[in-house]
Amino acid sequence: MENRKVIIVGAGIGGLAAGYWLCQRGYEVEILEASDHPGGRMLTLERKGDRIDVGAQFYHSDYRYAYELMDAVNLSGEKRTITGKFQFRLGNGSTTIYDHRVPYMKMLGLRGNLKLYGFILKYIFLRHRFPMYRIVEDHPEYDNVEILDLFKGPKDKPLRDFLVTVMSMGENMGLPEWMSLYHFIHTFRLSTFTNFIALTRGTASLPEELAKRLPVQYDAPVRQLVMDKGRVVGVQMEHGGTVKRAGHVVVAVAPSSAARIMPDELEEQRRFFDAVIYSPFPMPIFYLDRPLRKDIWCYFNDPALRKTFQFAVNGQAKVPEMVPSGKAILSAWSGYPMTLDLIDLPDDMLIRRAQEDVDLMLPGFSGWVEEVKVVRHPYAIARYPVGAYRKVLDFQKEASKLNGVSFVSDLFGGCYLEAAMWSAARAVSRVCGWGGTANI
Ligand SMILES: Cc1cc2nc3c(=O)[nH]c(=O)nc-3n(C[C@H](O)[C@H](O)[C@H](O)COP(=O)(O)OP(=O)(O)OC[C@H]3O[C@@H](n4cnc5c(N)ncnc54)[C@H](O)[C@@H]3O)c2cc1C
Repeated sequence: MENRKVIIVGAGIGGLAAGYWLCQRGYEVEILEASDHPGGRMLTLERKGDRIDVGAQFYHSDYRYAYELMDAVNLSGEKRTITGKFQFRLGNGSTTIYDHRVPYMKMLGLRGNLKLYGFILKYIFLRHRFPMYRIVEDHPEYDNVEILDLFKGPKDKPLRDFLVTVMSMGENMGLPEWMSLYHFIHTFRLSTFTNFIALTRGTASLPEELAKRLPVQYDAPVRQLVMDKGRVVGVQMEHGGTVKRAGHVVVAVAPSSAARIMPDELEEQRRFFDAVIYSPFPMPIFYLDRPLRKDIWCYFNDPALRKTFQFAVNGQAKVPEMVPSGKAILSAWSGYPMTLDLIDLPDDMLIRRAQEDVDLMLPGFSGWVEEVKVVRHPYAIARYPVGAYRKVLDFQKEASKLNGVSFVSDLFGGCYLEAAMWSAARAVSRVCGWGGTANI
């Protein structure tokens, strides 16, 4: 590339990772960020010295790029494996504890566990294992099947509730009705066979540290990509409409934002981004006046009840170093499609809805609340219904033919942090032929 200037739109982990690797390779990088802080969907909230993750919650232990970047910014010493367990409060009022590292789920009974082992044997061990955190292979036999079709018998109800629904809500912020078998296998592999890793200053300390080392401009929203003779040559800024030119532009924003900055020449790309179904996500945070059990970091309602808020995460039990007061901080989690109705509710109504459901998980909880805050993610995570992986593959094939532009998104690898970083590595290899993206 003759012009060695690269503009990156978006200072989420994808844009920052791309910026870091390009700077290392001697490119002149300018990162344009619409908001006043780095990290995008990775965010930490602070109150009286206590901190809590209110965006991405943890890294999976099999991530690769995330740990390389942590090493690069001296964060490796701050990694902590989340050791706590999950507690389910069942419809009959009893509770049961679940540890995802124990290979027997009591709630499924013997039949359910045997069927689960059969699933693991068939789809994980005996068939071709596709790569994780990157959508690079077409498997219509997985992509064109809904996960619930595999567990539709009356006796499969415990599997539908405690395996498929819990995994879909916990890892993908939505009910499983819209999930393909392909995406479920992806999700299942990472949540069953990896550990959850947090950082003692919050998951967002990785983008924060990267941003300190990079030329990021804040409050600098991009209005549109600029094209000339069929090639992307720069961006037009929202404020003042000025045009910044570059040899390459990396678009590293969530799909709905990407759709908005596509020029007419990239109508096909705009239509793709616009069609992505996603969960918005309002998150109420309850600061309690007391600690809760240290060995439980996640409280679930009985998934069969299909409550609006299905689980709550205790930030204090998850990463005690982040909460010096020692008091519990609970974030309440809902998912698609319920969040479509919740996202625009006024705070007081949202909090009331969450409080009712968390009270079921933890009777008495309402009386322990000191303060409540609300964080809203207009765009949280993409859904992967039947056929979604095929659409991602088709998009990537066409996008690779475009000149002067690359697209970075977690969408291209299942919506995890590592997927955003893998996609960034791929964009960097497009710009400069870097071999950091093995296996593509
Ligand atoms: C509540 C929640 C929990 C999650 N938990 C986990 C988890 O535990 N583990 C995990 O692996 N993943 C998790 N994820 C997913 C993870 O956060 C995302 O995969 C990842 O952060 C996406 O990074 P990104 O850089 O692709 O996009 P983003 O983080 O969305 O960054 C895009 C950036 O672009 C900026 N931008 C948008 N439009 C413009 C514009 N026009 N001009 C300039 N800048 C613009 C935005 O302000 C933003 O900063 C979670 C997500 C959410 C919402």
